[in-house]
Amino acid sequence: MYWMQRAQRALDNPALNVAIEAGNILRKPVVAFFGLVPFYPNANLRSYTFLVQGLGDISHGLVQKNVGFVLRRFPDHRLDVFCAQVRPCLVVGDENPMREPERWRKVVAERLRVPLWTVDADVIVPSALLVKEQYAARTIRPRIRALLDEFLVSPGNPKARTPWQPFKELASLPVSSDLLAGFPIDTSVQPVSTFHGGTRAALDALARFERERLSDYSNQRNHPDLDGTSQLSPYLHFGHIGPHTVALAVKNSNAPAADREAFLEQLIVRRELAINFVKFNPSYDRLQGVEPWALRTLKEHKRDEREHLYTGDQLENAGTHDPLWNAAQQQMARSGWMHGYLRMYWAKKILEWTRSAEDAFEIAIRLNDRYELDGRDPNGYAGIAWAMGGKHDRAWGPERPVYGKIRYMSYASTSRKFNSKGYIERVKMLAPGGGDD
Ligand SMILES: Cc1cc2nc3c(=O)[nH]c(=O)nc-3n(C[C@H](O)[C@H](O)[C@H](O)COP(=O)(O)OP(=O)(O)OC[C@H]3O[C@@H](n4cnc5c(N)ncnc54)[C@H](O)[C@@H]3O)c2cc1C
Repeated sequence: MYWMQRAQRALDNPALNVAIEAGNILRKPVVAFFGLVPFYPNANLRSYTFLVQGLGDISHGLVQKNVGFVLRRFPDHRLDVFCAQVRPCLVVGDENPMREPERWRKVVAERLRVPLWTVDADVIVPSALLVKEQYAARTIRPRIRALLDEFLVSPGNPKARTPWQPFKELASLPVSSDLLAGFPIDTSVQPVSTFHGGTRAALDALARFERERLSDYSNQRNHPDLDGTSQLSPYLHFGHIGPHTVALAVKNSNAPAADREAFLEQLIVRRELAINFVKFNPSYDRLQGVEPWALRTLKEHKRDEREHLYTGDQLENAGTHDPLWNAAQQQMARSGWMHGYLRMYWAKKILEWTRSAEDAFEIAIRLNDRYELDGRDPNGYAGIAWAMGGKHDRAWGPERPVYGKIRYMSYASTSRKFNSKGYIERVKMLAPGGGDD
């Protein structure tokens, strides 16, 4: 059986492939199990809606591969109960470096009476091969590049040779939007219409990006007014599309080499650096996770006067004096996604405008995880640690109030780099939920 957690897809899924190949060798059928639980930290109606939208494509894709699909939800979500019913000879799971799913995996491993194999299905280079925490992009890049010939290849899509035969006593919920009815989750953040979950929607977004934006990606990626990036992060976060599918499409496209390389740098080097950070640094969601030089400089500037001071609520309600920051916050709250260039500015200003770096860190993680569809992800923790704590960055001069040696971004220079007025106007048109007002 395949215990699907992070890699929520049937397409190009290395963990599912291992289950299918093992089943074929053992002449056994394969079933995938998905248990929907309400206690994923900081997830809410917005993120769960996106997740549930992806289940139809999973079910359809598994049928094509002769693999069964059993879907259950809390309180009937338990893997050990399911295992007692189907009595698998082998359980294959996918990996996730985040604290909570990692803990669930350990609990399950102790309870199972059959082998549990896990596969790092959502990275190009398996994260265990990097052995320890890497200092920066420049240290992980050569290590990753040296392994790309081996790992940047299509995972393939094998089919189970012994088709799964469902049996009546094995309860499975139908895939429908009713799955969330009465589910005990936080409903205070509404779903968005800007993104629809699922592998098909992810493939459409990838095709659109290749067709319309990849060819000028290296120029346009820092222009929030132009939407020049792929907007694939929610799909990558939920595993609706895997990094192999995206990386190979871009690598083999006709776009200029500079654009392909710039994109693959983000998708592979930066993304896998973030995964490395979360896998090997137990303080990934706390200020303590950053380097000693950064902690020192922030401490030295702890008592600096702040020109503006805001509470978490004021920030959440986009109530600052800065129209660009407010627009970025509103883009995230209303559409479930903020442009990457502004994420840096957004986080740095929270550092500048709150009482302490610890408070700033906590507020940024809370807002990011609450509103971004791609939140609760290694990229978010690494991004916030980079912006506020110089993680994977270096010390910068001249030293500034509050920031010390952490790299600074000003309103004047940031808003000059793109048509910030156009961006702010566009965000104003966004209705809550993401569509145009
Ligand atoms: C403060 C801050 C918070 C962030 N929070 C998140 C988050 O919660 N979830 C998230 O997925 N990303 C986060 N990022 C990283 C990055 O901003 C987003 O991944 C990117 O903007 C998503 O848009 P896209 O898919 O159009 O990116 P593209 O430019 O099209 O890039 C393609 C993919 O590469 C990866 N990628 C791009 N930029 C980065 C980066 N800087 N670091 C790591 N991977 C990257 C993402 O998986 C992205 O989907 C954060 C960055 C910062 C500075």
